[in-house]
Amino acid sequence: MNKVTVIGLGPMGQSIAKAYLEKGYEVNLWNRTPSKADDLVKMGSTFYSSILDAIKECELIIVSLTNYEIFYDVLNDATNSLKGKTFVNLSSGTPDEVRKAKVWTEQFGANFISGGIMVPPPLVGKDDPNSYTFYSGNKALFENYKGDLEVLSKVDYKGDDVGLAMLFYQASLNVLYTSITGVIQSYAMIKSANIDAKSFEPYIRGFLNFLPYLIEGANIPEEIDTKVYDGSQQNLNMMLVGAKHVTETSKEAKIDYSVPESIEKLFQNTVDKGFGEESTTSIVKEIMAE
Ligand code: NDP
Repeated sequence: MNKVTVIGLGPMGQSIAKAYLEKGYEVNLWNRTPSKADDLVKMGSTFYSSILDAIKECELIIVSLTNYEIFYDVLNDATNSLKGKTFVNLSSGTPDEVRKAKVWTEQFGANFISGGIMVPPPLVGKDDPNSYTFYSGNKALFENYKGDLEVLSKVDYKGDDVGLAMLFYQASLNVLYTSITGVIQSYAMIKSANIDAKSFEPYIRGFLNFLPYLIEGANIPEEIDTKVYDGSQQNLNMMLVGAKHVTETSKEAKIDYSVPESIEKLFQNTVDKGFGEESTTSIVKEIMAE
């Protein structure tokens, strides 16, 4: 019988454990708050109050904690039992934190794979076509556990450098955080005039339909790779004027303007360096401090 130990039972860890149970795995659990394992125990998994015992049971340990600091905190008393284990850490962190965690884990004779899980908890293990998990670390090690990891979602292996999965994960989250914040700022602008935010929804949807053009039609990745920024259709001088107006409209509406203002500042700094005739993509020079 396939076996797995799941460390961390927040919404994500619980969904991970459930997915393995549904696939017939023997599932062992540890969590700081034992009650979060109650339903999973009813479903057939085993909860250990000692992390050491939970780890002893299995070779494959899936970790789903809030961050990497907690990874050390919870394993500090179990370092003698890590030898021969493979940790797949799906917690959020930075690429460097992940690289350090690999070194830390390996000193105790254990293996380490990093993952950035791009799946909301209810869709874990559900074969959702849009869900996947980035993985990185030793290729042979990854291949060895690939079948176990595919229980959770499609897998997308990014390379031997163990930090790469987290780089792709955080780059993806950056798109999420910046776009969702932009959307909320726009709703707030509408709401500031005592108009229901809901009434703006069709315009947000319309704009989201236009986004693929921004990436494909405006050749953003190609411009970044080739460092040629074609400003013939839209240039940064024009975009800067627009960005100032978004900030000023937010000020007039008496709502927070820190997000539009930081965008305006980025545009302004790029224009100040003489790139106003180039496309908006040229802000990448400022972002990358080139
Ligand atoms: P939570 O933050 O809700 O819980 C994660 C786990 O961390 C819990 O088991 C919690 O234990 C444990 N924990 C937190 N602080 C401590 C501590 N000081 N000592 C010991 N254990 C601690 O996270 P999620 O389950 O939502 O997410 C887990 C990971 O998955 C995160 O890194 C998140 O970024 C990522 N993720 C989450 C998604 C989501 O929608 N939830 C989507 C994609 C990725 P306790 O139960 O005792 O509090």
